[in-house]
Amino acid sequence: MAQRPDFALRDVDPATRDALVERVRFYRDLGLTEFYRRPVDAAKLAEWAAAAELTAPSEQAALQVDSLTDSRIDSQNTLASNLEDKAIPPRKPISAPPQTATAVQPADPAAALALIREEIGDCTRCGLHKGRNKLVFGDGSPVARLMFVGEGPGADEDAQGLPFVGKAGQLLNNMIAAMGLKREEVYIANVVKCRPPGNRTPEPEEANTCTPFLFQQIDAIRPQVLVALGATAATYLLGQRQPLAGLRGRVHAYRGMQLIVTYHPAFLLRDPRQKKEAWADLQIAMRELGLKKPTSSS
Ligand code: URA
Repeated sequence: MAQRPDFALRDVDPATRDALVERVRFYRDLGLTEFYRRPVDAAKLAEWAAAAELTAPSEQAALQVDSLTDSRIDSQNTLASNLEDKAIPPRKPISAPPQTATAVQPADPAAALALIREEIGDCTRCGLHKGRNKLVFGDGSPVARLMFVGEGPGADEDAQGLPFVGKAGQLLNNMIAAMGLKREEVYIANVVKCRPPGNRTPEPEEANTCTPFLFQQIDAIRPQVLVALGATAATYLLGQRQPLAGLRGRVHAYRGMQLIVTYHPAFLLRDPRQKKEAWADLQIAMRELGLKKPTSSS
């Protein structure tokens, strides 16, 4: 009998792995999270096993990406486990956000943020610390009326210790400027504060460990409007997985604030056609904040 290929996604060459991760992210950003949650069928398995003997590992990976499940992506990212005919395990739970913001807003949000940073310390609460250069706490005004939440630091952010300073950050800066604001006037943070290896999506354990600090930051700043950048931010802010498509384009009442969900700038770099949609979301934020569209002379 043909042997099943026995390799994990992490063993695939880095370029192929990155391409796979990007593709799965692209689907997630579009709100397509359920389409690959199908049981592996035994006949297909045998077909794959046979094909695996004939194809190079990178081709195998490309063939199998559509059968990745979220739970597998959430766990070990193994392609090998997709080829095992055991039941697909339940997806790992997402922690619910605290029901309400702290009753009293801190008199000194900057001091409150400093305390939160101190509490985080040289964090080793989850595995992400192992690959970190710099912890990325957050950046911007402690009294911001508008706060953006991304997914997690990338290579540039990990090197500088600041959120959104790479290519996606440049686009975010442009988006902020288009709203007639300066980056220093808003606050920017992420679901996780340490870079996931290979820029993969944070695992639920990692995100659930880190988000209590994000909620504390949100409660210290108490922005009027929170913008979730992409599916991961929306998932962990809302405490449930929902397709991005159903969350965009409206205001969600959120713990005494207004939450708007839009595309992640990295997704917009991959698919610039969606920038128009993102701009429509940001205009909702502007309307809520009472901001006027900047004119060419402003
Ligand atoms: N992407 C994110 O989600 N956050 C960053 O800080 C940078 C890129």
